[in-house]
Amino acid sequence: METFDLIARLTAIHGPSGREGAVAAAIAGLARPFADDITTDTLGNLIVHRKGSGPKVMFAAHMDSIGLVATYLEENGAVRFGKLGGVQPQNIRNVPVRFENGVLGAVKVNGKADEDKLTMDDLYLDIGAASREEAAALVKLGDTAVYATAAGRTGNRVISPYLDNRVSCAVLLMALERLESRENDLYFVFTVQEEVGLRGAKTAAYVVDPEFAVAVDVTGAYDYPGASRAGSAALGKGAAVKVMDTSVICHPQMVEKLSALAVESEIPYQIDVLTRGGTDAGAIHQSRLGVITGGISIPCRYTHTPTETVDLSDVEACARLAAAFAQCKL
Ligand SMILES: [Zn+2]
Repeated sequence: METFDLIARLTAIHGPSGREGAVAAAIAGLARPFADDITTDTLGNLIVHRKGSGPKVMFAAHMDSIGLVATYLEENGAVRFGKLGGVQPQNIRNVPVRFENGVLGAVKVNGKADEDKLTMDDLYLDIGAASREEAAALVKLGDTAVYATAAGRTGNRVISPYLDNRVSCAVLLMALERLESRENDLYFVFTVQEEVGLRGAKTAAYVVDPEFAVAVDVTGAYDYPGASRAGSAALGKGAAVKVMDTSVICHPQMVEKLSALAVESEIPYQIDVLTRGGTDAGAIHQSRLGVITGGISIPCRYTHTPTETVDLSDVEACARLAAAFAQCKL
């Protein structure tokens, strides 16, 4: 499948934290021809095993996205909601959303709210219902909703919600497809509940018990007008080798190895230092007696908004780097 089509397919699937089943099913289908064994653990992590003779290596990419969850139905039919993961109220004004059952709605601001100091309490979902009864026929408390816009492409750039982190799921599938040797014993793990605190990666790392781990995730690209300097990555400059984020300081051995492999294989790469946000690497490196952990990051602008943006050349570079690490002598 063409890279953009794969990304568009994965980003369109409903899968906020805790509701990743449909994403897991789609990934399992795509991974099956390249896997020796595919299992799901208690929390829902999808574990794709490709047997090899060398050390155990775990790749992790989270399947879940941020999302909204219905908390209260107003008498006038408005749906009040809370958030799953890092949803910023000011990023979702007037955004169309879709519940898991297909019901559409739009995020609206309560008329009296101060737009500069928005909180979740100032927002409601308009699902077209005129009363609590009508709303209840469409949405139940606890139902989850996600941004309803589709992936688009302009040149090499992809604009879509949920590139965090379906683009990394695509990267792992692309890497898996390219493997030739059986150097290392490989586990490609598609984790659950990252956005609410790296929960799936914790149990996945325990069950896999790897010697080496690589978390694949997006990293903030701060290369747009007026951007802060909260991170080092930029779009179109290659695979980002993680040095640190707020959840992990990567093992120096991993930073060195990934950088050296990029140079050797002529894969464009850059350094990822992120001072806002964490990844599954945070949970994995602290598993059991500790795991030698690094990260491969896809630079992404406007993370957690409906218009996340990545560059397809970076996606390609990340897939090549992941495949190179999977097959290197450790
Ligand atoms: Zn992420």
